[in-house]
Amino acid sequence: MTVDTLPDALDHFDAVMDALAAKPALFVDYDGTLTPIVAHPDLAIPSPQAKQVLSSLARRMPVAVISGRDRAELERRIGLPELIYAGCHGLDIGLPGAPAPAEAFRPAIDAAEASLRARLSGLQGALVERKALSVAAHWRQVEPARAAEVRDAAAQVLAEHAPNLTAIPGKMVLELRPALDWGKGHAALWLLDRLGADHAPLFLGDDVTDEDAFRAIASRGIGIVVADPTDPRPTAASFRLPDPAAVLAFLERLGLVVG
Ligand SMILES: [Mg+2]
Repeated sequence: MTVDTLPDALDHFDAVMDALAAKPALFVDYDGTLTPIVAHPDLAIPSPQAKQVLSSLARRMPVAVISGRDRAELERRIGLPELIYAGCHGLDIGLPGAPAPAEAFRPAIDAAEASLRARLSGLQGALVERKALSVAAHWRQVEPARAAEVRDAAAQVLAEHAPNLTAIPGKMVLELRPALDWGKGHAALWLLDRLGADHAPLFLGDDVTDEDAFRAIASRGIGIVVADPTDPRPTAASFRLPDPAAVLAFLERLGLVVG
């Protein structure tokens, strides 16, 4: 399907609920889904109404926020301990007593971070950025003649940790992360397995990475893509919503019908 051919999840709210075979477990993306896309990512925080709705829903069903952001940052920005948080596109899941598979890679990330810092300590402008389950070497601020030194150092550290780590290239940055086939879809299914039976996933997101989750949960629940209603892009979601304001309205309505 394509986004522009999907039914709107608010206009067809009863159809969404009818399509859920069990009590919903709610999974939501953060940027562009719970919060509007803003010029600077630091400015993206959920509205007081959004927080109130999420808190209210969390008393009735599992509510998980799955984002590309760091988990600690999500927890701080939303500030609701009753929610489940999964950062780094689902690699870093905060479910007490249940370490997610990527946790096994943490020692390798620690060692890679230490090695990168040692190799780059004398190079002006080189930046080593640690996230929970990844470490990145940036050369944006390094004089161009020496940029290759950062790239080479990161490549050497990657070689030291093959095959445990893999590299994700970015703009003047190389990020090392667990070599694990694991996206938001894996995270959603992993969480569902641990939330106990009798939950049907309801997954809302606007990102390309959310499509992975829509595909993963398709046989068990419902995906709702947050996108412009005229967007012709392909999607594995079953319904759509136009923007974060409509997401909030949908969640408010969900809170009224799920007791
Ligand atoms: Mg998003």
